[in-house]
Amino acid sequence: MTLTITGQTQSIQAIEKLNELSGESVKLCMQCATCTGMCPMALEMDFSPRKVMHMAQFGLMEKLAGINTYWKCASCHACSVKCPRGIDIAKVMEALRQQVLRKSHNYIEPSEISAETIAEMPQIALVAGFRKFTS
Ligand code: SF4
Ligand code: SF4
Repeated sequence: MTLTITGQTQSIQAIEKLNELSGESVKLCMQCATCTGMCPMALEMDFSPRKVMHMAQFGLMEKLAGINTYWKCASCHACSVKCPRGIDIAKVMEALRQQVLRKSHNYIEPSEISAETIAEMPQIALVAGFRKFTS
């Protein structure tokens, strides 16, 4: 019983933290999947934006920490402009990235990128990538 209450408390705290970081309220989501239908990156994601919102509503942060959805998100806001509940899903995706990066976990390691790749890539893409994927 104590474990259940502790787990529920942690989930509620996780949801509140995500809401605070994103400035959005994930509980407003009604699971219509419009966001997934609009998303140009959905096929690259292991969980669709709708499923991510569902996991977020239950505070499943451990599961969310291991998925690629918010790293694949291109921050295009196509989902956000069409959400019938007015949720800026792109901000939720950014908040999920920040939660990982603030623990000093990089999604890509700059030291693992070869010198040849760095030489070939546009500098602006490198800078944007480092901003998005590294802490
Ligand atoms: S479009 Fe909005 S309400 Fe519908 S599933 Fe996505 S986040 Fe939820
Ligand atoms: S902001 Fe991200 S999740 Fe939303 S439609 Fe664009 S790529 Fe997909």
